[in-house]
Amino acid sequence: MTETTDCVFCKIVAGEMPAKTVGETERTLGFRDINPQAPTHVLVIPKTHHDTAAAMAAADGELFGELIEHAHRIAADDGIADSGYRLVFNTGDEGGQTVHHVHCHLLGGRVMTWPPG
Ligand code: 5GP
Repeated sequence: MTETTDCVFCKIVAGEMPAKTVGETERTLGFRDINPQAPTHVLVIPKTHHDTAAAMAAADGELFGELIEHAHRIAADDGIADSGYRLVFNTGDEGGQTVHHVHCHLLGGRVMTWPPG
């Protein structure tokens, strides 16, 4: 749960690394993915460090809810709340998680396919 000095997303929260932010709340931050996979590709993160979605939910279930609500507001700001969007929490190595600070991918602005790769 504590901030880790080598965590890239903790550095973005601390303002030590640049990011294209799209909004923040007291406890969450949204910023555009550096390698977008859709017209809208935003990462929404808790400002506190938790490795995974499950760890965050176990530590603070309300924070999990705040994160989802914030993602929906960003989707609305980007004009995709009504057409639809995808929220993804990659978890662990085989789940495709490369940054071990929980983040919700908000993807939209195009038709999503299934299954994901
Ligand atoms: P994961 O693979 O862990 O689910 O997703 C990590 C995401 O973070 C990737 O989509 C990657 O492009 C994005 N990312 C990694 N480093 C940075 C960074 O320094 N800035 C931003 N904006 N996105 C990053």
